[in-house]
Amino acid sequence: MALVKIREVLDGCHENEKVTVRGWVYRKREGKTLIFLLVRDATGFIQCTVKKDSPAWGDAERLTIESSLKLEGTAKPDKRAPGGYEITAESIEVIGLAELFPITKDQSEQFIRDLRHLWLRSRRMNLVMKIRDKVMQFSRDFFESQDFTEVSPPMFISAAVEGGSTLFGLKYFDQNLYLTQSSQLYLEILIYSLEKVYCIAPSFRAEKSRTIRHLTEYWHMEGEWPFADMNDLMRFEEELMAHICQQTAEKCKPELEELGVDVSKLASVKTPFPRMTYAEAVELLRKKGATLKWGDDLGYEDEKTLAEEFGKPFFVYDYPTAIKAFYCKTHSDRPEIALSVDMLVPRIGEISTGGAREDDKDKLIKRIEEMGLKAEDYEWYLDLRRYGTVPHVGFGMGLERLLAWMLDLENIIDAIPFPRTTRRFYP
Ligand code: ATP
Ligand code: MG
Repeated sequence: MALVKIREVLDGCHENEKVTVRGWVYRKREGKTLIFLLVRDATGFIQCTVKKDSPAWGDAERLTIESSLKLEGTAKPDKRAPGGYEITAESIEVIGLAELFPITKDQSEQFIRDLRHLWLRSRRMNLVMKIRDKVMQFSRDFFESQDFTEVSPPMFISAAVEGGSTLFGLKYFDQNLYLTQSSQLYLEILIYSLEKVYCIAPSFRAEKSRTIRHLTEYWHMEGEWPFADMNDLMRFEEELMAHICQQTAEKCKPELEELGVDVSKLASVKTPFPRMTYAEAVELLRKKGATLKWGDDLGYEDEKTLAEEFGKPFFVYDYPTAIKAFYCKTHSDRPEIALSVDMLVPRIGEISTGGAREDDKDKLIKRIEEMGLKAEDYEWYLDLRRYGTVPHVGFGMGLERLLAWMLDLENIIDAIPFPRTTRRFYP
């Protein structure tokens, strides 16, 4: 008897054939002469019926929700069954009989979130995790198609990439080290050997604020490459984004539909993206009643207001130098404006930040000192400007923010299996 995945049965590959499936009991309904089991495996759910005169009856009776089992029977089309197929069970092997499962219908979000290790079995989380896997794959495909090399940066670092306020410090034998906030500076090292490089790796931020878009540990997709300018950067980012969204719309359609996501929202992400300068953004926001002025950083509410204008991904570029990190290159004739760009999306706001990096050693030292940092902490970084410096650009995109937008997730914590926030670090 063929051991099959539930998806194959639902796809009609085994009509009227005897099959064996392995999985877990998702739901159970018991009648006097018939027991309905909704069995799930990684690929889907199937209704299995057990008749009173079947040798499987006794085992079906004692099965509890979330018990694992092996079930043999005949796969038949049945309009009444969810998915259009059911299996008439002939024998059941109970593998692991479950105790009373704590998650039942109608439980609060809070309760479910506290039982993350069990909630991950839900259909919703199963679908999100599958799409997450695909989104990582589509991202890699795109980078590779553009001749990028994937590299593996360190997580333990000795100096802060940006400000110190969101750094996690840790004891490293008898030294004090930090967890990385971004792999950018390490990618910058590697461009001198590999030119176009990228990574998809964790970044850590000691973010105290509780928002729908901040985690303390998130997956950061970063790219860096030489001999390129801001235009190359924006073009690359929009093409990457369009590739990810279109591939997901095409290859994950059933999963998206089951999650209730409007597939056309993703299919319609096309290049070129709208672009507006920071100054234009400030002007627009002020027209809409905001009180911010040139020089202020855009807050979450500002970003959301801007995003409502476009209703799709877009760029804001040319931010004030003063609100940007020390490594940002500036316009040669307007040092107060940084060559930087954010990608924004509706509801979430910023999902990526990128820019040109300062490639002149003396300007870089000046910037480091202006920001109250010590140039000697950045010796290796300055070496990159001493030996064969080159104009280069790069960006970082938060994978979970991207998914939160793509999948209409209410909160970023549902874009990652084991979210880490100020309050959540178990299991
Ligand atoms: P924000 O202002 O929203 O806190 P940021 O500008 O500090 O973000 P960057 O340093 O620009 O963040 O990081 C690059 C990208 O990484 C961001 O555009 C975002 O997609 C993602 N990111 C940053 N911080 C977090 C976080 N705490 N949780 C999840 N993703 C994050
Ligand atoms: Mg940013």
